[in-house]
Amino acid sequence: MAREAKFQSGKQETGKVSEAQSPTGEQPHDSALRPKLFADVIGQKSVIHRLTIAVNACRKLKEPLPHILLDGPPGLGKTTFANVLPNELGTTLQITSGPALTRPADLIPFLTNAEEGSILFIDEIHRMPRTVEEFIYPAMEDFRLDIVLGEGLGARTVSMRLKRFTLIGATTRSGMLSNPMRDRFKMHEHLDFYSVEDLAIIVSANARKLETHLAPLAALEIARRSRGTPRIANSRLWWARQYSASELDGRITLEAAQKALDIAEIDINGLDKQDRRYLETLCGVFMGGPTGVEAIAATMNIPTDTLADEIEPYMLREKFIIRTPRGRVATAKGWAITGNAPPANYPTEADNPDLFSGQPE
Ligand code: ADP
Repeated sequence: MAREAKFQSGKQETGKVSEAQSPTGEQPHDSALRPKLFADVIGQKSVIHRLTIAVNACRKLKEPLPHILLDGPPGLGKTTFANVLPNELGTTLQITSGPALTRPADLIPFLTNAEEGSILFIDEIHRMPRTVEEFIYPAMEDFRLDIVLGEGLGARTVSMRLKRFTLIGATTRSGMLSNPMRDRFKMHEHLDFYSVEDLAIIVSANARKLETHLAPLAALEIARRSRGTPRIANSRLWWARQYSASELDGRITLEAAQKALDIAEIDINGLDKQDRRYLETLCGVFMGGPTGVEAIAATMNIPTDTLADEIEPYMLREKFIIRTPRGRVATAKGWAITGNAPPANYPTEADNPDLFSGQPE
């Protein structure tokens, strides 16, 4: 029977994974609201279908689950799936992240602690240094660890057998993963943005967990203004609950949700101040582009990774911007958000096919 995975952190210095601070840096309410089993996971039907097949096969064949790469923008459920899989299998989970693994030795405790059939989750795996990546290859392929002892002429390699474990890697940038690393994952699953209907189901279920009354229209309003992302929907729900508890009777009606989101400066498209600043910078400073992401990030004084991981994916999906070989370009829809009209000679795909053809940068 499925049970909740025991968390193990092989990272000696951090000790066990706590609710308040996890190696993936998530918020406490993330783990409280996170689904425990496939039955609690909303949306992503085809991903769940394939993972269920893999889990059933692994049970019947008595083999470990294949190594799985999960990719997609932040907050769409990569960590959730990494938690659900060991729960479904009744096995243990160890969690770490690419940036925490600065040298091969950092990985050794995780690999040697891995039990037969257990799961090792590496978040932000694209940020793992190349030396660590190369060190993990024999572990992934042959469940073997090659440790070099000594230096120079006296150096020798000692091989150690590992228990058959499963590596789940999560990345917001699968393009930054090296080909050899990517090829070692037997399953690749891409998580896409959620529909408004699925997000409304998620916030309604979470309101029940928080013992908060959430009107169905309020759930839809929060869902519509959550950028297709469950983590954002949960924090918008949390804010609406705060607002109603402070200013009203604690129930989240449609009016309460609207007012709470307006106060948080989240517009009807779900864009927040930072999203709008991005479009204002692209349109106001760079005349709508094309311009490189680094230039926009430098002007906004925020890291390029934040733009590329957290702001742009939704802008691209909603076609507020497009990526061209020469950089980002705001669309008419993107200009409309800024409240300004594009310049008279603004390039469109129809009148400037050169700009829009070829590989995006
Ligand atoms: P990621 O690892 O991709 O950044 P998470 O798995 O941490 O995203 O998801 C953030 C939060 O969103 C979770 O704590 C969970 O509450 C919620 N969530 C994500 N995906 C789902 C889903 N499919 N169904 C229900 N809730 C979800």
